[in-house]
Amino acid sequence: MSRNCKDCGVEVVGRSDKLFCSDACRSNYHNRRLAAEKKKIYKVDRILKRNRRVLQELSLETIKLNDKEELSKRGFDFSYYTHSKKENGHSIYYCYDIGYKMREDGGLSFIVDQL
Ligand SMILES: [Zn+2]
Repeated sequence: MSRNCKDCGVEVVGRSDKLFCSDACRSNYHNRRLAAEKKKIYKVDRILKRNRRVLQELSLETIKLNDKEELSKRGFDFSYYTHSKKENGHSIYYCYDIGYKMREDGGLSFIVDQL
């Protein structure tokens, strides 16, 4: 059964477990995979860092009403957070060391963890 190089598609000759036609193709393939992975991680990191910055700004201000709307206005993306915790039945969503939770009145409380 013939096999083709995972990078360039040329037929691979030699050992049956060989995946690439040359060292150059092996490096090329892995470098490309790594670059794609870094790009994805970078995109998510940017969102998380912006979220943290927005949380930090708001935690220093005294906004009471429509905190959630204010977060959105400042570019906060609610689908991205680093981790969450449950405290007295309420979820706290963190972006690194700064988190938020919904209050009964619909506003948000901010929590800054001491690391
Ligand atoms: Zn190749």
